[in-house]
Amino acid sequence: MRDGPVRSVAIVGGGTAGWMAAAALARNFAADRVAVTVIESPEIGTVGVGEATIPPILQFNALLGIDEDELVRRTQATYKLGIEFRDWGAIGERYFHPFGRYGADLGGVAFHHHWLRTREGAWSEYSLPAVAASEGKFARPSDDPRNVLSNISYALQFDAALYADFLRELAIGQGVQHVQGRVVDVRLDGETGFVEDLKLADGRVCRADLYIDCSGFRGMLIEQALETGYVDWSHWLPMDRAIAVPTPAIEAPTPYTRATAGSAGWRWRIPLQHRTGNGHVYASGFIGEDEATAQLLAALDAPALAEPRHLRFTTGRRRLSWNRNVVALGLASGFIEPLESTSIHLIQRGIATLMSLFPSNGFAAPEIDLYNSLMRSEIEAVRDFVILHYKLTRRDDSPFWRHTRAMAVPDSLAQRLAIFDNLGRLILDPSELFREPSWLAVLLGQGAMPRGHDPLADGLPEDAVRAQLQRMRAVIRQGAAVLPSHADFLSGVRAAS
Ligand code: FAD
Repeated sequence: MRDGPVRSVAIVGGGTAGWMAAAALARNFAADRVAVTVIESPEIGTVGVGEATIPPILQFNALLGIDEDELVRRTQATYKLGIEFRDWGAIGERYFHPFGRYGADLGGVAFHHHWLRTREGAWSEYSLPAVAASEGKFARPSDDPRNVLSNISYALQFDAALYADFLRELAIGQGVQHVQGRVVDVRLDGETGFVEDLKLADGRVCRADLYIDCSGFRGMLIEQALETGYVDWSHWLPMDRAIAVPTPAIEAPTPYTRATAGSAGWRWRIPLQHRTGNGHVYASGFIGEDEATAQLLAALDAPALAEPRHLRFTTGRRRLSWNRNVVALGLASGFIEPLESTSIHLIQRGIATLMSLFPSNGFAAPEIDLYNSLMRSEIEAVRDFVILHYKLTRRDDSPFWRHTRAMAVPDSLAQRLAIFDNLGRLILDPSELFREPSWLAVLLGQGAMPRGHDPLADGLPEDAVRAQLQRMRAVIRQGAAVLPSHADFLSGVRAAS
């Protein structure tokens, strides 16, 4: 291990990951304590997608001192109450994965057991964000926990390039050095294998104590130099290609992302203020590029604004996220696939975990090991949740869906599904990102009705429970009715500049 405090950090990559890391480091450490440099190559460019987020991004932005309204204006953002899934359980079906909870627990028993017992009303009617989203409404949550509007939780849909620009400005304003150039060589210490320095194409040399690899899928430091290895999850998540194409902005942008299942993948639609992001994520083992492109173009609501962009990836994670004096963040550390918009969140988690284990006193194996095991748990929990969507399908109209229906899933997921199938119980680890409402949205949304409910729910008289559930639905309906339209809310924020 290398002794001595880390006084300098070099971040390779100026995509979302690189600038998120730079802005957070600059915020946490005075420039004279830890010098931060971002090296990026304009000729290589960024992946340029990554428009949909999940609620914790708001905390990250707040910690950086970002004014949310300003961010919404600068990144052409819209608000997101969840994801609409079309054609996943079966063709013609739809369900909504909302941010926020369903109903309210009764008699100390989780709400969904009362619903499973009575089947009173539709499941989605117990979620305020789901009802609001279906009506194109949006408002920020109320601070008063007694107000039904406190049940709203939201995220943003933004232009990823503009978000990186915003963070770059912030980071540079706080003393981060910005170097434009291509890293062509990574020199390792012959004894320790630690990264010694980086050589740029123009001959400059960059040296730091800690290196953060944000170089995207190529993993310039973590893989090309350190040969850390990759854990491939293609057998569970066979998506390996994506096509992205923008269309004009929708007049009344929906406060949600749409994910429509196709014959060998799914298509996204993300409405922003200045354009709509569209894409097709697909498994090349089941569909060719021409057919995948044709499916995407045929499904667009409006003419494309640019030629389709093609991307390739392998789902999985780097064997270690932190190896020697290199921490990989973003696509360099792994990629699940964008179905539940989790990539940017995992960057955020990586940064927060690095901050809490920062090698201020030199590199120590216990801290590095802990970082790796924490990040591994985070990404594996997300992996299981994403696999769930494919495993639960009842579609059999194409070889792809027949494959995902029949495939074996990780033991952790198989066990959870078996427990849910019995009495509808969900026992999650407290550290998991996706909580009970998210699992229930997908399980019940795709028709995985358990055989029973927790008998504890039978302790309350059924008539009284039904009456309570009817009241909950009425309160949610009334709550949604008073919300402004998403378009009006957005206009208010834009006009307030
Ligand atoms: P990149 O954007 O690829 O940036 C890499 C950087 O490294 C660039 O600045 C490049 O110039 C630099 N670089 C590379 N090599 C060198 C070198 N040799 N020298 C100097 N610089 C170098 N995430 C979400 O959270 N929500 C979504 O909705 C979402 N949708 C996605 C859809 C698709 C199809 C894909 C593929 C990803 C999606 N993601 C999404 C993931 C998201 O795009 C990434 O997590 C995010 O953009 C971070 O990327 P990055 O910064 O790690 O890499």
